[in-house]
Amino acid sequence: MADPLSWIDDESADWASRGLVRTLSVLDRGLVNFASNDYLGLAADPRLLEAASAVTASFGTGASPLVSGWTEYHQRLVEDLARFEQTESAVLFSSGYAANLGAISAVVGKGDAVYLDRLNHACLIDGAKLSGATLRVYPHNDADRLEHVLKRDRGRFRRLLIATDGVFSMDGDLAPLADLVSLADDHDAILLVDEAHGTGVYGPDGRGASSVYGVANRIPIKVGTLSKAIGTLGGFVAGSNRLCDWLINRARPLIYSTSLPLPVVAAASRSLAIIQDEPWRRTRLLELSARLRTRLGIGSESYGPIVPWMVGSSEAAMDLSSRLRAEGFLVPAIRSPTVPSGTARLRITVTAAHTEGQIDKLSAILIRESR
Ligand SMILES: *Cc1c(COP(=O)(O)O)cnc(C)c1O
Repeated sequence: MADPLSWIDDESADWASRGLVRTLSVLDRGLVNFASNDYLGLAADPRLLEAASAVTASFGTGASPLVSGWTEYHQRLVEDLARFEQTESAVLFSSGYAANLGAISAVVGKGDAVYLDRLNHACLIDGAKLSGATLRVYPHNDADRLEHVLKRDRGRFRRLLIATDGVFSMDGDLAPLADLVSLADDHDAILLVDEAHGTGVYGPDGRGASSVYGVANRIPIKVGTLSKAIGTLGGFVAGSNRLCDWLINRARPLIYSTSLPLPVVAAASRSLAIIQDEPWRRTRLLELSARLRTRLGIGSESYGPIVPWMVGSSEAAMDLSSRLRAEGFLVPAIRSPTVPSGTARLRITVTAAHTEGQIDKLSAILIRESR
C-alpha cells in the first residue's frame, strides 16, 4: 500500500530548494554558546539544581492544575511571580507558547478583533487565530498606523485586543509601549504584552520592556516565560484576580494540560529570588551586549542581549553560521518563515555568563568573515 505520507517528499524537496530545511543537532558543549536565551546565566546555577533536588515529594504531578496537579510549590511560585510583577495574581502554563495561546483565546473570540505587530512571535499569531477573532496586522512598531486602524474599526467589534512582544525576539528592539498604553486607553482596547525576552533583563527592576517605559503597572495582561532569563521551563500570565480567575476557568491550555513538574517549579521560584537579589547579572549582561554592539559597529538604536547580524539570503546565513561553528562558536542562522524572507540573519544572544574575551573573538571573526 502507498504511504499516505508520501506527499511529504515533494513538499520537502521544495522546502530544501529554498534553503529552509531544519534539522535537530545535539548541542556540542565544547562550543561557545551564543544561541541561548539563558540571559542571566542561571540555567546551570547550582542553586537552581539544588532547589530542584530538594523536592522529594514527586517529580511529575500526574494531573491538570484543576484536578490534583496544584501543589504548595506551584502556589508559592504564582505568589512569587505576582509579587515580582506587582500584580494581584498570576497563573502558570506549561510554556510561554501555551500562555499566549491560552490568554488570547480566553479573552477574545468571534466578533472581536486582535491587533498584532507584524513581527510578533508566532504564538501571539497562533493564539489570535485560535481565538476566532478578526486579525489586524500593523507594520512593525507603527503606533500611528495602529491608531488609524483602531479609528477605522470603531464600533465594528465587541472587544479589541492589542497584543505585542515587549522585546522583539529576532531583532531585539522594544515595542513603543507608552504609545500602545495610551492607544489602548483611548480606544477601550485590552493590551497584552509578551515579556518573554524582557523579564529579568530590561528595566530598572528587571520587569521588562514595560518597565523601561514606566508603564509596567498599566498593562492588564502580562505574559512571561520561565524558560529564558529565569532559566527553567514554563509560562505565566500576571494580572488582576479577575483576569487570573477567568483564565483558570477558560484558558484551555491550562485546563486540559498537566501542570509543571515540581522540581522545575521549585527551581523557578529560586531563580526569581536570585534575579531580584543579584541585579549585577542584569548590569553585566547589558555591559557585555553593549561591548558586542560596539565591536560590530552596530549603532545604539537598540540595546540588550539580542543582537541580529543581518545577512540576507538563507544560504549565506547558514554558511556564515557553519564557518563560526568551525571556529568554536555556536551562533544560529535565523531564516524565513521565522523572519521575513530576504532578512536571514545570525541571531547572537549574549548572556551574563559570557566573557569579554569571547565577545571580542566572536566579533573579530564576524567582521573578518563578512568582508
Ligand atoms: C520564546 C518566546 C515565547 C515562548 O516561550 P516558551 O516558554 O519557550 O514557550 C513566547 N513569546 C516570545 C516573544 C518568545 O520569544
